[in-house]
Amino acid sequence: MKRVRHFASDNNSGICPEAWAALEEANHGHASGYGEDKWTQKACRLIRDLFETDCEVFFVFTGSAANALGLASVCRSYHSIICHETSHVQNDECGGPEFFSGGAKVQTLPGKDGRLTPDAILAAAASRRDLHFPKSGALSLTQSTELGTVYSPAQIKANCRAAKKAGLKTHMDGARFSNAVASLGVLPKDITWKVGVDILSFGLTKNGTHAGEALIFFDKTLAREFDWQNKQAAQLASKMRFLAAPWVGMLKDGAWLRHAAHANKMAARLARALKKIKGVELLMPRQANGVFVELPLPVIDALHTRGWHFYTFIGESGARLMCSWDTTQEDVDDFAADLTELMANRKNLKTKPAKGQGRKPH
Ligand SMILES: *Cc1c(COP(=O)(O)O)cnc(C)c1O
Repeated sequence: MKRVRHFASDNNSGICPEAWAALEEANHGHASGYGEDKWTQKACRLIRDLFETDCEVFFVFTGSAANALGLASVCRSYHSIICHETSHVQNDECGGPEFFSGGAKVQTLPGKDGRLTPDAILAAAASRRDLHFPKSGALSLTQSTELGTVYSPAQIKANCRAAKKAGLKTHMDGARFSNAVASLGVLPKDITWKVGVDILSFGLTKNGTHAGEALIFFDKTLAREFDWQNKQAAQLASKMRFLAAPWVGMLKDGAWLRHAAHANKMAARLARALKKIKGVELLMPRQANGVFVELPLPVIDALHTRGWHFYTFIGESGARLMCSWDTTQEDVDDFAADLTELMANRKNLKTKPAKGQGRKPH
């Protein structure tokens, strides 16, 4: 069956109405290039208002660019970047942070439910201080995490404090930052600069824009020569207004938070429905817009055959189900109904892998 929407990734969704309307509005007449236009200025102003602080803001094309360049701005070639073993920085950026920093080493740590702890960070930073191993340079935390959990403000504060003690700058990968804010019910400042985050990659692509992520320097001194670094990395958009306008559309009346809250709510509905199905185990607490669940392989294959797309990159049979701004209650209920039926009949199912599914997260 051909389905319009599925649960493969929140970046499989289209452009939300607010971002679309802003793009259309920006598409009149001529405007200066390279960020010297009123849309870019307004988007930066709205971001400063949102975070309630004066910060430096740069729009880049992708989340990987924001992460790699944000980290490269604080790491020299002989530094290391401490992050969780499931992090996008380590697994999904093709060595971008290493490349743009000229050689910094990504150092991964395990941590329950996708989170790092202050003890693990301190131990990693202290494990080698000799000349023969890279010097610890940065900590990168992902909020929401790659496993669909969120750090509380206190957890971020404790991690940032550990990083500071060890002489590291703290970067936050916020590809799903909005989902974390919606989940925690806090102000954006409560989980960023107020608790010690120096640099944030703030993403809206997964939450409804077409492209364009914001790299935010709360510590403005770190952005001193960033203009050049960004241009050299080919991230300075000539028609910048079209990266910035969707941000205005999303931030001016709170659509960024509404859409994230909706995606979280759909994931909560999905998690509730799945918990009721006999034999289905949630792998992680559901805290943002993703549900991680263990399913029998034949059931995974049968769901794929029925047109449900989702990825299974967590061990052998762990599935990730992502909800987005446009996921509907019917999508969730239809999926749960199919899964209920397949679980009840699973003895009769044979494993028959459907094409094109598997590892390709985020
Ligand atoms: C999607 C995502 C990114 C950004 O990915 P791009 O494809 O480069 O835009 C970064 N971090 C996380 C955790 C993500 O899920």
